[in-house]
Amino acid sequence: MILKEKSILVGRSFIYWRIVQVLFGLIGLGIFLFLIFIPDIGIHAFWNVLIPIAPALLVVATGLWRNICPLASISLISRHLGFSNNKKLKVKQQAKLQLISVVLLFMIIPLRHTLFNTNGPATAILIGVTILFAVVLSFKYDWKSAWCSGLCPIHPVEKLYGRKSLFELPNAHCSSCVNCVSVCPDSTTNIHPLYKKKKKFNQRISGTLMIGGFPGFIWGWFHVQDYYNGEGWQYLLSTYVYPFAAMTITLVLFITMKKTFAKKYENVIINLFATAAVSLYYWYRLPALFGFGLFPSDGMLVDLSNSMPSWFPSILQISTTIFFIWWLNINKKQTTSWLLRPPYDKQNKSIVNIIT
Ligand code: SF4
Repeated sequence: MILKEKSILVGRSFIYWRIVQVLFGLIGLGIFLFLIFIPDIGIHAFWNVLIPIAPALLVVATGLWRNICPLASISLISRHLGFSNNKKLKVKQQAKLQLISVVLLFMIIPLRHTLFNTNGPATAILIGVTILFAVVLSFKYDWKSAWCSGLCPIHPVEKLYGRKSLFELPNAHCSSCVNCVSVCPDSTTNIHPLYKKKKKFNQRISGTLMIGGFPGFIWGWFHVQDYYNGEGWQYLLSTYVYPFAAMTITLVLFITMKKTFAKKYENVIINLFATAAVSLYYWYRLPALFGFGLFPSDGMLVDLSNSMPSWFPSILQISTTIFFIWWLNINKKQTTSWLLRPPYDKQNKSIVNIIT
């Protein structure tokens, strides 16, 4: 009786999640069409509203993002409708995908200055190609193994920032767990880019690059301007040199700290680097959104530079940095997983060993 009531509740919650997923899918489609047909609005909506919200959302509610991400919802349609191939990925293949996703992240972001930040149709093509990869991979491989927890270039950022979720939500995609990925990032407490006792070589490289390199990469990225009308191709080298040079410095610092302070302080060090990365992002991004950026007009949503006092950006910078220091390091909140693991699929032979 209780079980029946529980399954009715879960069923109802799935319906609500589907409604929210469809809504976000429609918002995503709207932005995509704006990028093509009215690029000025599309660029603001995508690069100056959606993307600046994302890092904070990943810090406080990674699971919410995992449930409503339009790309995840589109890519998993084949699995929901029961016509995907559900192929299992080997741990080695997963590690390879995770390394490629980190490389993609570092290679694509600098191109925002060269092309994407100022070109709506180019951004639409980038999104279109990403959707294609996500759909094909999720059609071929089981649940989130190949895309959402594999090749998606946002996934390494989720694992770095998603250290303390505000709440543990139900998993709005997986109705039962088939252990599609080892280790499941959604259902594992204290997940981070270097999580896993027996790490594959590729996982060690991708995790180290992500944690150690990301703060410097962000700092360097904000010291490059946006280019218009294709002139950015002439400055491609410097567009990459700044973020990669700064990334090398923080990477060396991370490796040194990790070696010096040993395993005992690994979590503390990871939290510090996650804090540095997300704080640096908002340190530069929030002033730029309101017309106080290093390069006026780059990434500006609304120009408040003439109507707000000169200390306004400092208030934004200091308050966000204090918040992230507190949330990721001082806050006593128990670390939880991003989402609740659904019941294991007992029909699936490959997981019988896990649940017995
Ligand atoms: S909950 Fe299970 S099926 Fe869903 S992504 Fe995690 S491991 Fe895969």
